[in-house]
Amino acid sequence: MLKVNRRIKDLVGSSTLAITARVKELQAQGHDVVNFAAGEPDFDTPDFIKQAAIKSIQNGFTKYTPSIGIQELREAIASKFQKDNGLVYKPNQIVVSCGAKHSLFNGIQVLVDDGDEVIFQAPYWVSYPEMVKAAGGRPVIVQTDVSTGFKITTSLLKKHITPKTKVLIINSPSNPTGVMYTPEELSGLADICVAHKIYVISDEIYEKLVYDNIGFCSIASLGKEIFDLTITVNGVSKAYAMTGWRIGYAAGPMEIMEYIKKYQDHSTSNPTSISQAASVAALSASHETIEAMRNVFKSRRDLILQYLDQIPHIHYIRPQGAFYVFCDVSQIGDGTVVAKRMLDDIKVAVIPGDGFGMPSYIRLSFATSEAKIKEGISRITKWMKN
Ligand code: PMP
Ligand code: GLU
Repeated sequence: MLKVNRRIKDLVGSSTLAITARVKELQAQGHDVVNFAAGEPDFDTPDFIKQAAIKSIQNGFTKYTPSIGIQELREAIASKFQKDNGLVYKPNQIVVSCGAKHSLFNGIQVLVDDGDEVIFQAPYWVSYPEMVKAAGGRPVIVQTDVSTGFKITTSLLKKHITPKTKVLIINSPSNPTGVMYTPEELSGLADICVAHKIYVISDEIYEKLVYDNIGFCSIASLGKEIFDLTITVNGVSKAYAMTGWRIGYAAGPMEIMEYIKKYQDHSTSNPTSISQAASVAALSASHETIEAMRNVFKSRRDLILQYLDQIPHIHYIRPQGAFYVFCDVSQIGDGTVVAKRMLDDIKVAVIPGDGFGMPSYIRLSFATSEAKIKEGISRITKWMKN
């Protein structure tokens, strides 16, 4: 029997990726699937970004770059952090990787040793538990619910800290709920992390997709002590509709980033040179580029919530950001069964809540057109009546 590494043998595949692949397969076979599963913007990458990539190919920018990414891109990221988040990182404190997923993976690999505990909440993004396990760590999952707005409170955090606690992962706006932490809430969590010397990995990938006039806040901006304990992760996937280009980045204390650099040197080396050139263009884009996409997402969010309000037995968590609605379907059945039946019976694809640590939920993505939202919800409504 094949014997594999003990940290890898129990890893679970990504349900989001599996279902997305299944939807593409069904669509290729000619099925009319309404795709509420997509974890990516449905917009095309803006043309000026594509042009920058084309130009880079024509100019022969097709060779290895420094493993941590080109200086020009790291300068653009440093200035983004300063301007948007009030975070002062030097370019050499920034490592560009193959997507924010890769940046998170690197950060966890470097900080987490065998037996170390990593705290994050349920509902959580599918990859956090597996990344922690792949590093030999132990995921410590804080169950949240409506009573705390699906967020970790200071008292919940305190209850889960042990001498082995090493890292807290924060994801605001959240995938799958779209819920956001206020600066005050983050500040409370930061104080505890500072007191216990717990590192924070802040996954800020949905930063640009915020709908309710809630100011986005980076936890690292809340003081020097928490800044020195935090790895801030972001990327171009969601803000610029660039999921396939695979560019994410992490910034943090120099001593941590040096290890991340060494780890990346011996794993992927640099992320694609062409995508780096495209990302320089993306980060220098005017505010309007992002704003136009955000406005469309906001209208879709409002529309899907309005429709969901009319469906009995489905209760949702109101998303303030990202492009997901996480729905409690416990009155209908188990989330995995409901998701399967929806796909089989009416060709509506959603992601079961199980992969997010909440089996009685399903996740609907509104990264699809208003017409598709209308069609999908109408199929669900009729199916529920039957
Ligand atoms: N974090 C969260 C919460 C996500 O939903 C995703 C999914 N795209 C990522 C990180 C990774 O993004 P990417 O690797 O495409 O930059
Ligand atoms: N993050 C997206 C999602 O949650 C994309 C798929 C993935 O990388 O998991 O659907």
